[in-house]
Amino acid sequence: MTITEFPPKLSHNKSSAILNAGEVALVGSGPGDVELLTLRALRFIEQADITIYDRLVSDEILALLPENAEKFYVGKEQAKHCVPQDKINQLLLEHAKLGKRVLRLKGGDPFIFGRGGEEAEFLLQNGVNCHICPGITAASGCTSYAGIPLTHRGVAQGCTFITGHMQNNGQLNLPWQNLVSTQQTVVFYMGINTLDKITEQLIAHGRTPETPAALIRKGTQTEQQVFRGQLAQLSNLVKQHNITPPTLIVIGEVVDQLTTEQLSTPGFLSAKEYKHAKTNNIKQA
Ligand code: SAH
Repeated sequence: MTITEFPPKLSHNKSSAILNAGEVALVGSGPGDVELLTLRALRFIEQADITIYDRLVSDEILALLPENAEKFYVGKEQAKHCVPQDKINQLLLEHAKLGKRVLRLKGGDPFIFGRGGEEAEFLLQNGVNCHICPGITAASGCTSYAGIPLTHRGVAQGCTFITGHMQNNGQLNLPWQNLVSTQQTVVFYMGINTLDKITEQLIAHGRTPETPAALIRKGTQTEQQVFRGQLAQLSNLVKQHNITPPTLIVIGEVVDQLTTEQLSTPGFLSAKEYKHAKTNNIKQA
């Protein structure tokens, strides 16, 4: 019997991040802060002959692309598709077939609301090898940089990532009854344009209007903004501050767990700020 070792042992200077001619690397760039890029992502970035990238990839990360590499922007804004998905698939295939080392760079994680699975499937069906490199997804990066733990013992035993993007029929049909447990954090991606519907349905299905909630815009980036309030107040916050995408919606008791304010330094919790939040916050842990 042969015993196959898994994962294969790699010596410290040997990487599996080798992008060969005619292959595609599907790489997650994280939520924006260049320091949240993985080493594996950086290795693929450095080997790219051509990069096909999205709107959510930050300028700091784009600055890491090799100078002589071709760059192709296929970013999309909600409802405004710069390049349709079919065309993106074709582009990836075309350049791989030309024998280039193709980097497909996406915000966050390619397999979380990133259509990475569809792109990989298309390439594989057409005989092109795909490397997959995860990225820190917005829910994880943005909440960390806002001082919100997604789960917390005794407060939230679970967390759901869900899309607030309307289906093609203009409806937002979500399993609302599964999203209202008090012990669960719910994170909506692409939900800013359907926020009224989201809050209305969550409250109608039993989530209390006073549930702590936050809106995080451009999380982990220099322009990061965090707006905190209660579930029932979110729509007003959006109007009042004219909050636009990319914004993440976080709902659950964890929002107030460590702080109730916007951190002066994203990703840094000061003991002084914590004390202030606890003294002023009625909800003690
Ligand atoms: N694949 C990405 C998600 C793409 S969907 C990931 O794993 O993060 C796009 C949505 O993600 C945006 O509408 C927004 O809700 C969220 N998002 C992505 N990056 C963000 C950021 N830096 N700040 C806030 N929200 C972000």
